[in-house]
Amino acid sequence: MPVTLLSVQKVAVRYGAIQAVENAELAVAAGEIVTLLGANGAGKSSLLNACMGLVPLAGGQVHFDGQRISGTRTEHVVRRGMTLTPEGRRVFPGLSVADNLAIGAAASPQLRRETAARRTEMYDLFPRLHERQKQLAGTLSGGEQQMLAIARSLMSNPKLLLLDEPSLGLAPNIVDQIFDIIAALRARGVTILLVEQNAELALDIADRGYVLAGGRIVLSGTPGELRASGLERVYLGAH
Ligand code: ATP
Repeated sequence: MPVTLLSVQKVAVRYGAIQAVENAELAVAAGEIVTLLGANGAGKSSLLNACMGLVPLAGGQVHFDGQRISGTRTEHVVRRGMTLTPEGRRVFPGLSVADNLAIGAAASPQLRRETAARRTEMYDLFPRLHERQKQLAGTLSGGEQQMLAIARSLMSNPKLLLLDEPSLGLAPNIVDQIFDIIAALRARGVTILLVEQNAELALDIADRGYVLAGGRIVLSGTPGELRASGLERVYLGAH
């Protein structure tokens, strides 16, 4: 039996009167790519942010790698081995590629000691970043910034990477490159929870998926099951 890395139980997220996530149940096993699908505003980012401790839970629990992490600080979550590449490629524009990467290893003294070695691994995985290591992140192309954002998350050597909309706003050929990288990461032993609006693309590489609509998980299953169960209706709000 594969080890369950992430377990989300009855999670709720509220922003004042807005109920962004309700009673969400989700699990990710080691070695899987799991995708979380849903239309704009369905609550996908809120659920990822709740797992990371970036927004408080209004209910429920999150366990990671056998420990309860809900209620702990984000730094602790990162040190335990889970990181998030947030939506919108939030790199530090005024810092070089190399310095942006170094920040990704800042969560603990041990990670800081491993900065140089991890950076070499990242340059191996992303040759484009190697070529541009001294360039200011703000002057990179959109695709390069997305690569940097992913590489920065990987600097903490995560067991589980949460990826929030990596394809957003990128040209199709760059999106293909990013998805090739996601597949390569899994081959290197990184487990991935992928939030995507582009369902087709995500289902092509995922082992399993969940669909959020109006803050609730309304469907889950293998890509084949999800494709067969009228995903489009969910997106159009028929559930
Ligand atoms: P998108 O694909 O557009 O990023 P999403 O599925 O990630 O959407 P969320 O960003 O989690 O959805 O938003 C879920 C709901 O919570 C939306 O109605 C959104 O407006 C609301 N929301 C998100 N963040 C906040 C906030 N900080 N304050 C108030 N409401 C928020």
